[in-house]
Amino acid sequence: MGKRKKAAKKPQQSRQKVPLDTAFTCIFCHHDKSVTVRLDRKEAVAQLVCRVCDQRWQSKATHLTEPVDIYSEWIDATEAAQHDAPAVRPAAASSSRAVAAAASEDSDDD
Ligand SMILES: [Zn+2]
Repeated sequence: MGKRKKAAKKPQQSRQKVPLDTAFTCIFCHHDKSVTVRLDRKEAVAQLVCRVCDQRWQSKATHLTEPVDIYSEWIDATEAAQHDAPAVRPAAASSSRAVAAAASEDSDDD
């Protein structure tokens, strides 16, 4: 007498549409989910703002742009800006060499 084993019903994972993540970690103040991206497809602009440290950034948005694209653009732009910062430049050794006196006209009239 075989006991009929009821196959465990596997809960079928319904294809749930995950809401797009629009809150990110701020690379300035490091707060979690403090950065939000607003896409204005009508105006074709994307606005990124950190509600904690008030960092703002704006970029172009197309109908293909996702908030995460803007976020990574922001990071790239920020890193590029930091790279360009003159503060990173190694201070050139200022030449302490005495500069020869400017051509002083030595009018030796005889
Ligand atoms: Zn911030």
